[in-house]
Amino acid sequence: MNQCAQCGAELSPDSTRCEQCGAGFDPWSAPAASTASDRAVSGIAPMLSRSPAVAVPLKSQTLYIVLGAIIGLIGFPGIHNLYAGYTRNGLVQLICAWVSCGVLWIPIYIWTIVEVCTVTHDSDGRLMM
Ligand SMILES: [Zn+2]
Repeated sequence: MNQCAQCGAELSPDSTRCEQCGAGFDPWSAPAASTASDRAVSGIAPMLSRSPAVAVPLKSQTLYIVLGAIIGLIGFPGIHNLYAGYTRNGLVQLICAWVSCGVLWIPIYIWTIVEVCTVTHDSDGRLMM
């Protein structure tokens, strides 16, 4: 048996108004289960992919060779590798040449010449022009 929400009087099942206080009510308004909460937001977040269209100018093979052959010759080996993105190799060459007080300079310079003669791509795999 329903009860009036206003006065607590018992209500007949087919009545739409309280006979005691006259408050209207909807006999069918049971607390409805919300279906809105069932609609799961299933949208997949947009893939934040790195755009391959970012225009990065190609590196210069000539500059790479000059850096290796000339700058390496005057005491800064490895700069060509830093330029081409081979940071680890570049730092190894530069640090080894300096820490060894020049003892390793000749082998490092030979290593440098071999690199500038053979390496044609930067660390991203792009051909140096
Ligand atoms: Zn009532």
